[in-house]
Amino acid sequence: MFRELLHAALDLVFPPRRVCPLCGGGDPEAVVCSGCRELLAGYAKERMCPCCGSAGPRGLGVNLVHPVQPVLCPDCRSGRLFELARAVGPYEEPLREAVHQLKYYRARWLARPMAALMAETFQSEAAYFRTRGLVPVPLHPAREQWRGFNQSVLLARALGEITGLPVLERVVARIRETPPQTGLARYERLRNLEQAFRVQKPEQITGKIITIVDDVFTTGSTVSILSHQLRQAGATGVMVLTFAIARQTGKG
Ligand SMILES: [Zn+2]
Ligand SMILES: [Zn+2]
Repeated sequence: MFRELLHAALDLVFPPRRVCPLCGGGDPEAVVCSGCRELLAGYAKERMCPCCGSAGPRGLGVNLVHPVQPVLCPDCRSGRLFELARAVGPYEEPLREAVHQLKYYRARWLARPMAALMAETFQSEAAYFRTRGLVPVPLHPAREQWRGFNQSVLLARALGEITGLPVLERVVARIRETPPQTGLARYERLRNLEQAFRVQKPEQITGKIITIVDDVFTTGSTVSILSHQLRQAGATGVMVLTFAIARQTGKG
């Protein structure tokens, strides 16, 4: 609580400058500057997995001479527990820097413009129209206290304000801290995550289609397990929306 107040006070003393949230460049007319807008439009032209929305390795995406039918990425081929995932763009510069600023440098003001970009993605994909609630991926309470906030909650709240959808913040609790997941085999990641969450307010999601909100989609294991648990608790469908998504590695 003290931390929250402190950060709010700091925002008043040092109001965030009105700059492009992606490149930090000068006064943007809209959500992002024209250069970043062009970059985002470029992502949209890349070939991506129709399920999770991940793009191929950088530079291999667009093939205008011999357009290839979209194919499922290796992770989605081995089965996903959500219906669809989309992101604003790949987890690389400048999107990665925005995530780092929000998460590690506590630039909370970024949540709003980042969510505005996520809202554009949300509104451009018809599958999301059936969503009746946003569920941010919870952090373990110890980690949330250490950071002072949960970036997924900040993004979900801002997205909720823009879309008018309710943010179901307390539906799921993170009851176990999960060790870093990088470098682990898929089955190990899933096993670690299985006991990480508990749905504690199933009545808020029963019979509803839910969209999970997070900052980054890395392997998709976390949102996959969470989707499974939301469905078991009564959600009729689960989709995922993140700010950024890791590119496919090109293996498999
Ligand atoms: Zn920019
Ligand atoms: Zn995929």
